[in-house]
Amino acid sequence: MIDLERYFEDLIEKSNDRSLQTAILNSRIEYLTRKDNNLRKLENINIIDRVDELKEIRRANLDRLPELIDAAKEAMEDHGMRVHIARDGAEANKIVADLCGKEGWNAELAVKAKSIASEEIELNKHLTEFTGITVWETDVGALLLQLMDGKAMHPTGVSIAVPREIAAEYFSKLAGKTLLPDPQILVAFVREFIRGKIMDADVGITGANAITADTGSIYLLENEGNVRLVTSIPDKQIVLTGIEKIMPSRDVADMYVKVMPVYTTGAEAINYLNIIGGVSVSSDIERVSVKPASGPDEIDVILLDNGRMELLKDQDFREILICLKCGACLMECPLWNVVAGYYGEHVYMGGFGTILTAFTKGLEAAVAQAFTCTLCGKCKDICPMGIDVPEMIRKLRQRIVEQGIARPHERIASNARRTFNPYGENLQPLKV
Ligand code: SF4
Repeated sequence: MIDLERYFEDLIEKSNDRSLQTAILNSRIEYLTRKDNNLRKLENINIIDRVDELKEIRRANLDRLPELIDAAKEAMEDHGMRVHIARDGAEANKIVADLCGKEGWNAELAVKAKSIASEEIELNKHLTEFTGITVWETDVGALLLQLMDGKAMHPTGVSIAVPREIAAEYFSKLAGKTLLPDPQILVAFVREFIRGKIMDADVGITGANAITADTGSIYLLENEGNVRLVTSIPDKQIVLTGIEKIMPSRDVADMYVKVMPVYTTGAEAINYLNIIGGVSVSSDIERVSVKPASGPDEIDVILLDNGRMELLKDQDFREILICLKCGACLMECPLWNVVAGYYGEHVYMGGFGTILTAFTKGLEAAVAQAFTCTLCGKCKDICPMGIDVPEMIRKLRQRIVEQGIARPHERIASNARRTFNPYGENLQPLKV
C-alpha cells in the first residue's frame, strides 16, 4: 500500500534540513558555473549541434532497438563475450548469482563500479543474501552510500549531499582509525582500500554507458580510474546494463562521449574513456592469438529489459528511452533543489526517474513520485535530448487515477485550499 502521508512528511522534513540545503546549493552553483564555462569553451566543436544530432539519431533509432540488440549481441559474441538477455530484475540477479556462485566461478569477492541497472534490481542485496558473496562498491560516493545504507542524491553524484564530517565518520569506522574530515584524506583512504579489494576480487561488475551495435564495443566513462581497475584486474567480468544503452555505431557512441561530460558534471571532457571490445588477447608470438592475456578471461554481458520493451511500445512514454541519465534536469528542478534524491523512493529520482520507476518497478511504485512534480516544465527546457517529461508526468497521473491506484490529488487540492501551497504549510521556501 502506498504511504503517501509518510512520503510527503519525509519530503517536508528534508526540505527543512539545513545541511542538505547547503549541499544542494553548493553542488548546483559548482555545476552551473563549470557547465557555463565549458559550454563556451566547447563552442569550437559545435557542442550544441552535436547534442541535436545525437538527439535526432537516438529518436530515429528507437524503432530499431530490437534489431540493434540482436546486432550488438552478435558482435559481442563474435569477440568472445557471452551475452544474456534478462527479462526482469529477478532473472538478471539469478544470472549474476549463477555466474558468480557455486555453479559458476565460485567467487567470494566482487567489486562493482558504475552500474545504475544493478541498483535498479538491487543486485548487491541479492548477491549477499543468496550467494554469500561480498560485494564492494569502488566509486568513492557509491562506497560511502554502501556504508551508510543511504540513498543516491543524483545519478552522477550519488553522495553530493553527504557532509564531509559524516563521510569521515563512516570511512573512519571502515579504516578502524580516526580519519580527519578532509576530502583529500578520505579519498586517499578509499584509494588504498578499494585497490586492495580489487586486487583480491574474483569478479568485476560494471554497467555500460553505451554498447555499439556495429562492433559490440562497451563504452564506460569515468573520472576516478576505478572502472579501469575493476574491468581489468579480476579474472571475470560482468557488464550489466539496460537495453536502451545500445547505440547504432561507434560514431554515435563517440558523439555521446563528447556531449555527456558537460551535461553530467559540467566538465569539458571525461578523465577516462574505457572501451572494451572483447576478452583480453595477445597475438605477439608468431601472430597466434592467445586468450586471455593480462585482462579478464571471461566477460559476460547482461542486457536488462525489465519493462523497457513495454516502454518502447508505449507511444506516450517511449522517448524516455533516449534519456542520457545525465541529471542536468535535476539541477533546474524546483523540487530536487529542495529535497535532492529524496524526490522519489527508488533509484530513479526526479521527473525522468518517475517514468523509469513506473516501467521498471510498476505503476504503483511511481505514484508518490508522480505527484511530487510541480509540472513547471524547467526540466524540458534544459534537457539536451528535449524530452517532454512534464507531459509524460501528466499522462502517468492520468493512468494512475484511471486505474484506481491512487487519488493523491485530493490531498494536494486540500493543501492548496487551506494554505495556497500544494505541499501544505510545513514546506518552507529555501533560505541558505
Ligand atoms: S531527462 Fe534529459 S536532462 Fe534529465 S537526465 Fe534525461 S537526458 Fe538528462
